[in-house]
Amino acid sequence: MKLNYYIYGFILIIFTSCKDSNKKLTQESNHHLTEATHWSYSGETAPEHWAELEQGSDCDGHNQSPINIITKDVVETPTKNHLNILYSPQTFIKKVINNGHTIQFDFESGDSISYLGDTHYLKQIHFHEPSEHKINGIIYPIETHLVHLNKSGNITVLSILGEEGEESQVFEFLESFLPLKNGESKDIHKNIDLSSFFLNEKHFYSYTGSLTTPPCWERVNWVVFKEPIILSVDEVEKLRNNMPINNYRNEQPLNNRIVTFNY
Ligand SMILES: [Zn+2]
Repeated sequence: MKLNYYIYGFILIIFTSCKDSNKKLTQESNHHLTEATHWSYSGETAPEHWAELEQGSDCDGHNQSPINIITKDVVETPTKNHLNILYSPQTFIKKVINNGHTIQFDFESGDSISYLGDTHYLKQIHFHEPSEHKINGIIYPIETHLVHLNKSGNITVLSILGEEGEESQVFEFLESFLPLKNGESKDIHKNIDLSSFFLNEKHFYSYTGSLTTPPCWERVNWVVFKEPIILSVDEVEKLRNNMPINNYRNEQPLNNRIVTFNY
């Protein structure tokens, strides 16, 4: 299923650019990713300044991400079957980008999940080191975000926390395209089998939040898997060496939101 052009352009702009009134990125210039550097994770453009840097963004909103998931406060429901991961072993990666904020792999269209009765298409996967979400205050060495978009432009992000242990074949494959310098990208056009993450077998927390990077757009469906995946210290290290130090946003207040545990 081909996503309409408008939505595709929109998601590219959300994830690869900063709002800049003088330099509105066009579709054609999306690949000039070196422009997308006016927010950062440290100094004068660090997360505490994002709301002022990004006028009109949601970064100062009340439904922001990431959060610290306190398991004694979650609402438990047997709703795990509302999520069905439909990735095939023929999931194709189009390219990898170092956009100055993270390492991001873009997918070719076709692979999807079904969530809450709606189809969401896998668009890209990227990483935060250490994790953005916490469970009972515990920070994990790495967090992987699989970003999906439905036909109405709504976003669902699957978050997989990573724990250090044995080597992961998926990470070994992804990292075979590194190193990449800030602003560099590489075409891939190879298939990847994401089934070794066994996502359909994992329990998950869900809540409504935001993008964790400017413009911090709200109404994002978050699915945070309870069980982490295992990857090696070297694999975490290699990603770390290709991303800004500590590319995570601090936890945001939960306010009146409810976190659900889906078992
Ligand atoms: Zn992310």
